[in-house]
Amino acid sequence: MGADLSLPLVEQVRPGLWTVPVPIPNSAQMGYVLVYAFETERGPYLVDAGWNTDDAYSCLVSGLAQAGFDITDVQGVIVTHMHPDHYGLAGRIREASGAWVGLHPADAALIGDHKQAPTGLMETTEEILRREGAPLHAIQALQHAAMPAFPEVAPALPDLLIEDGDQPEVPGWELTAVWTPGHSPGHLCLWEASQRLMLSGDHILPRITPHIGIHPQSGLNPLGDYVVSLEKVCAYDASEVMPAHEYRFVGLHRRVEELKAHHQARLDEVLAAMGAGAVTTWEIASHMTWSRAWDRIQGWMLRAALGETLAHLHYLQSLGRAYLQPGEPSEWVALDMPDRLRSRATPAI
Ligand SMILES: [Zn+2]
Ligand SMILES: [Zn+2]
Repeated sequence: MGADLSLPLVEQVRPGLWTVPVPIPNSAQMGYVLVYAFETERGPYLVDAGWNTDDAYSCLVSGLAQAGFDITDVQGVIVTHMHPDHYGLAGRIREASGAWVGLHPADAALIGDHKQAPTGLMETTEEILRREGAPLHAIQALQHAAMPAFPEVAPALPDLLIEDGDQPEVPGWELTAVWTPGHSPGHLCLWEASQRLMLSGDHILPRITPHIGIHPQSGLNPLGDYVVSLEKVCAYDASEVMPAHEYRFVGLHRRVEELKAHHQARLDEVLAAMGAGAVTTWEIASHMTWSRAWDRIQGWMLRAALGETLAHLHYLQSLGRAYLQPGEPSEWVALDMPDRLRSRATPAI
């Protein structure tokens, strides 16, 4: 990607609104999460928390101190979604300050999955991989691909469930939760009306395309949800977008159009792969373009690639443009192949 992953400075982005970058350990792509701190007469309220490591925590504490806040004065933590780079430190901040922790119920429901032993998740993954047509050696390697993340995930449950349209109490600010499922089932953006700011979490990032994939904790049609959620934020006339990674930017609508075009191009790739005779999710994914050659993608990146392919297939299915013939492996059948992709289609389709 060529992104500059060095930690940006703590910055006052509006009077009373600060960004505190918190490093993500071993992150090749993201580097850091941007925690937003809203100043109020009671003390600061945060949006997102950071990954649960000692390093990240001390970085958050010192970053807040630079902005003039004490971690013990934090009043509330609104978490955009339950991924560990956002939710991880929420419990520790609550312990230090007595702050409430707020999360959308659809993501709160997933916290329990991490508290239990991960065996359940692994069995589900194996079944999924077999259905997708993954070869045996890949299934064995991939089953363990998500394991390193588990010890880092904080089991703290939220105090507050924040639903679409809720206005979490942050004195002096006009925050409204905008439920934007897709990247995670309970992803929240936050609209700050007085300054027309869209805090976009991982839903909209300036350069990276947020991962939308099918996995044991995703919805059934996360890409369908994501496309609807893109339209939803387009209803807001934002003066600036404040994402949880990379950097803030102007041009919400333009970025939404780019993200829609990206997924349209990926859908075309999926259909072209099917036109070339690929039938299992594994085969279809192996025909698509990735940041490196298919046989060099390993571990969680391979799972993510399969999950992303599957998300596009389920979206096509929801549009009536593909269906799945169940089996081991299951086989995808394209309907309504566009003319521009038909030349590569086999007679069977
Ligand atoms: Zn995320
Ligand atoms: Zn993230």
